[in-house]
Amino acid sequence: MEFSKINEVLATTREGQLLHDLMSMLYPICRSITGEGVRETLRQLQQHVPLEIREVASGTKVFDWTVPLEWNIQDAYIATTRGERVVDFRKNNLHVVNYSVPVRGTFKRADLDGHLHSLPERPDWIPYRTSYYKENWGFCLTHRQLSELNEPEYEVCIDSSLQPGHLSYGEVFLPGATEEEVLISCHVCHPSLCNDNLSGIAVATYLAKVMQKIVRRFSYRFVFIPGTIGSITWLAQNQERTNLIRHGVVLTGVGDSGNVTYKRSRQGNAYVDRAITHILNHRVRAHRVVDFSPYGYDERQYCSPGFNLPVGCFMRTSHGEYPEYHTSADNLEFVAAEALQESLEILLHAIHVIENDARFLNTNPCCEPQLGRRGLYRAIAGQKEGAQKEMALLWVLNLSDGQHTLLDIAERANTPFEVIHAAACALKECNLLEESRGGRP
Ligand code: ZN
Repeated sequence: MEFSKINEVLATTREGQLLHDLMSMLYPICRSITGEGVRETLRQLQQHVPLEIREVASGTKVFDWTVPLEWNIQDAYIATTRGERVVDFRKNNLHVVNYSVPVRGTFKRADLDGHLHSLPERPDWIPYRTSYYKENWGFCLTHRQLSELNEPEYEVCIDSSLQPGHLSYGEVFLPGATEEEVLISCHVCHPSLCNDNLSGIAVATYLAKVMQKIVRRFSYRFVFIPGTIGSITWLAQNQERTNLIRHGVVLTGVGDSGNVTYKRSRQGNAYVDRAITHILNHRVRAHRVVDFSPYGYDERQYCSPGFNLPVGCFMRTSHGEYPEYHTSADNLEFVAAEALQESLEILLHAIHVIENDARFLNTNPCCEPQLGRRGLYRAIAGQKEGAQKEMALLWVLNLSDGQHTLLDIAERANTPFEVIHAAACALKECNLLEESRGGRP
């Protein structure tokens, strides 16, 4: 399928609901940075895209880090001495501090204090806590539950294991006409949390699904990795080939109803930064473009100075800026099909820019060519956005000197890329433009 058909595809499908359905399937799984939860998630994605699961052994050195022990969990609860479960992992996997070491025993109520986490200001929400790099255990519960723990003793069980195993991640590789790559990265390490992790997974999966059907200039690599340690591991294992990455984006928090935020790469004005900013400026009324900072998601690793890859971060409301963040309220109701659909569309439009940009040479550079004679004015006269299309023809002719890309022209003309691109195609058809050698940015 040609890329130009994408708009038709998107207009006729309701991908947003399908994305939400995929999230519903993945929601109950207890993921972490290692373990069966990640594997099960990746296996489910294999039903949608040609995803390969890679396993890296615990203890493997990855730059300054070491791949940790594999964590798995069967069950966890706090029960009264009469056997009544008052905090139950089976009801919500957020109830256990992720990566908790195994525990079993009877505890005095007072001795539990340091192991219980709640949110007094949100008494019905369960917080999400982890203890990846320090051996510890604990429970997360609503503040209401905490206030009812009034008995002198409780039975505590965390039936987990921390053993040598593997860190698992998934990779979808779609080869294109060139070896040069576009990297799409999302994290897969959060348990039942929707906007934070599942939305990125769903959008990346559907992006891969669409890109599979399209004639591609670039090769596309989608990585589904546990946050931080996953991208560090991936970079350590692929260091040699990172020079092939031309454009990249980390997807996170792309399902809430807030406005889109795009965080630029460390380079600040990389092509991907310009392409996404351009699409946002022309398609999305309210949005934010923010500068790089060495905090956030896996862009921190991709943009570390030893790599400095052109990788930005695409999200909606920034992490930490919505109260539901890292709580049980980041659930299936918090994410909207429309928001997921819009996120997918923006990314596809940015990919359209990346795929179709080129430098051209005006074959008739001495004064303007006669457009009417070639049917270019007449062809557009009756159309609604005729004036904009006419201007686009003039801009493309004027700036096609082999130096400017179509995105340069679109920016300078303050005109959507697709209008500039359509003008270039029409001019090429009339032999008024030719692609300049080595013209692909
Ligand atoms: Zn998170």
